[in-house]
Amino acid sequence: MKKIMLLGATGSIGTQTIDVVLQHQDQFQIIGLGAGKNIKKLMEILQLLKDVQYVSVANQEDAEVLSQTYPSLTIFYGDEGLKQLASIQSYDVLVNAVVGFRGLVPTLCAIEQDKDVALANKESLVAGGPLVMEALKKHQVCLYPIDSEHSAIFQCLQGNKLSQVDKLILTASGGSFRDYTREQLTNVTVEQALAHPNWDMGGRITIDSATMMNKGFEVIEAHYLFDIPYDQIEVILHRESIIHSMVQYQDSAIMAQLGSADMRVPIQYALSYPERLSMKQHKPFRFIDYPTLHFTPVDFKRYPLLALAYEVGKKKGNLGAIMNAADEEAVALFLNEQITFLDIEEYVQQAVQHIPYIEHPTLEDILDSDRQARNFVRELASRKENMNG
Ligand code: NDP
Ligand code: MG
Repeated sequence: MKKIMLLGATGSIGTQTIDVVLQHQDQFQIIGLGAGKNIKKLMEILQLLKDVQYVSVANQEDAEVLSQTYPSLTIFYGDEGLKQLASIQSYDVLVNAVVGFRGLVPTLCAIEQDKDVALANKESLVAGGPLVMEALKKHQVCLYPIDSEHSAIFQCLQGNKLSQVDKLILTASGGSFRDYTREQLTNVTVEQALAHPNWDMGGRITIDSATMMNKGFEVIEAHYLFDIPYDQIEVILHRESIIHSMVQYQDSAIMAQLGSADMRVPIQYALSYPERLSMKQHKPFRFIDYPTLHFTPVDFKRYPLLALAYEVGKKKGNLGAIMNAADEEAVALFLNEQITFLDIEEYVQQAVQHIPYIEHPTLEDILDSDRQARNFVRELASRKENMNG
């Protein structure tokens, strides 16, 4: 029985993780749940899962109400609560499916407790890649990718040698505006941006898919997970999201992992590895439904944040943390209809340019760069608002 600590339980990856666990109750048990503000959903989940002993929520008031309703549970709150969950001894694997930079510290805490981590929270690697890799090496535990592209690569690497890889090929759907020119992006709405053609995901990653910031994050994530140089990581547009990613070897053979766009597959593989378990699919994949698959090169001018991510990745230091924080803040402002879609790109680029570079940041430096980038973006947004108002 594998005991799971699940952060981000009420989100898109979190609820699909619960679905996987409920399908294999003889193998997996969730003993702790981290949620944010969706208490209704959390209470529904608590009805379904009988082995939960620990819970954390974003706010203290919610934690107090929950303590009265569930006196047998240990309840934490805030970012400290996520850290406390990750630091508990009695679990085997942390599934980190919280969104945003706040996922980094729990990832580090779990590793420091000698726990394996199944990682959806790519921000952990974008902002703190070197810290996470160093901790993994020191504690000799495993990091299993949940992100579909990285799970695909991980699967394509089985039985092969990393040293014989020629390149990794990450596929990208192109997001909600893939058929728009840059001119057409000027007046797009939040509603349009949230309508992803292939995947049903949380708000932030859906917007990040439309700007391709997400693909940029994934390039950095791949660099750390598979220890491969940036010039051996290629991105290709593949609008159907059937091939989840590929590995090309030195002998020119290419391995691809494919199937329906269903995140439960990579989630389950991260939990069951090296075994494969059965899965009830909502929509089993049939090749005959896809007589044609499309592949096109990415235009870096169309997607400047993808180009920026390669640059940031190569320069390392605190730039990943700055880029992530600026994007996190800008996306929140866009979702709140306070800035335009194109402002997101502008603000992220400016933050990366203006916030002081630190070559070998400590965790404290990373936390500080994150704060600086957020303030910087908020400042830009309010200056623009004042100018317009
Ligand atoms: P969602 O927005 O659907 O879920 C985010 C989760 O984080 C929710 O459980 C939310 O809680 C929780 N959360 C938010 N704020 C806080 C907080 N202050 N304290 C504690 N918990 C908080 O996101 P996704 O599931 O889409 O994404 C999660 C992660 O997985 C991201 O890093 C994303 O990049 C990655 N990922 C997602 C994929 C997908 O298909 N969705 C694919 C690949 C990677 P609540 O709702 O209760 O407020
Ligand atoms: Mg992905």
